[in-house]
Amino acid sequence: MRNVIILGSGCAGNTAAIYAARAGLNPLVVIGQEPGGQLSITTEVENFPGFPEGIQGPDLVENMKKQAERFGAEFIYGTVQEANLTERPFRIDVDGEWHEARAVIIATGASARWLGLPSEHKLIGHGVSSCATCDGAFYKGQLVMVVGGGDSAMEEANFLTRFGRQVTLVHRRDQFRASKIMLDRARANPKIKFMPNTVVEEVYDISKNVVTGARLRNTVENRTWDEPVDGFFLAIGHIPNTKPFAGQIDLDPDGYILSKGGARTNLTGVFHAGDVQDRTYRQAITAAGAGCMAAIEAERFLEAEGH
Ligand code: NAP
Repeated sequence: MRNVIILGSGCAGNTAAIYAARAGLNPLVVIGQEPGGQLSITTEVENFPGFPEGIQGPDLVENMKKQAERFGAEFIYGTVQEANLTERPFRIDVDGEWHEARAVIIATGASARWLGLPSEHKLIGHGVSSCATCDGAFYKGQLVMVVGGGDSAMEEANFLTRFGRQVTLVHRRDQFRASKIMLDRARANPKIKFMPNTVVEEVYDISKNVVTGARLRNTVENRTWDEPVDGFFLAIGHIPNTKPFAGQIDLDPDGYILSKGGARTNLTGVFHAGDVQDRTYRQAITAAGAGCMAAIEAERFLEAEGH
């Protein structure tokens, strides 16, 4: 029986682990399907306080893990398959092995959304990417495409103009979710070509195992054509990793955990931290802060229960 199990090893989970371990709770951290979370697929992080020269994302998250281990946190590889959070002790199935705990911190994050085309899936890492900061530099002087109409798409398109000779921004509507300032900045960038009312039907070329182009369709004119592309970037949002908790934890219509204040969920003893609840800020520093809050709340909860 564990005092606390922390689900997820991104900024939120690792910070919760530092605080819980330092409080003598010997937390068990389930690393999850994306070890290190979103930071592990980032390059330089320039806005995490305390690093005036910046720090590589994977180094930052690995440092947090080491810091938690120094105080006795135990990390196990694996992904939560099932959870029983309606009875105590809470029970968590990690790849077939059940673990029990008095408190649970859910820090499972949110994963990038994909279009769902088989060709897109096969070419991930071969020209298809969900992370401009990670992969943009591979496309110096080449043709880049960004799919999406939100702030991420604008930010990524602007960022990618540092590398690509042209960035085509493909969006399925002619209305943009992006904030005015981000949209205006992208529109003012001469290297960005807007393609509204356009959907991606296919990414080429599986037979060459590299992206060479995309089949696009204009939904207003119902016209289809092939567009040459070297780097194909998705910026169509994220999906919170809450599937194992559905039906037990209160979620919003998109699957994000509904906070009951602080780090509390609707279930006493189950806390949230990071992007799994936060669809607004989604920053390394806010996730870290949320991890700290969750650990402090878990500690107080356990103390109140006499543990
Ligand atoms: P988002 O605002 O949810 O936008 C997702 C975009 O992808 C939408 O334009 C959506 O189209 C499109 N989309 C979704 N599913 C699609 C599909 N299957 N096929 C084609 N297009 C699809 O996500 P986000 O841009 O990642 O932003 C998330 C949050 O982070 C927002 O609150 C945003 O403001 C914030 N953010 C802020 C900054 C910043 O201020 N620096 C930077 C990045 C993100 P529809 O509009 O048609 O639904």
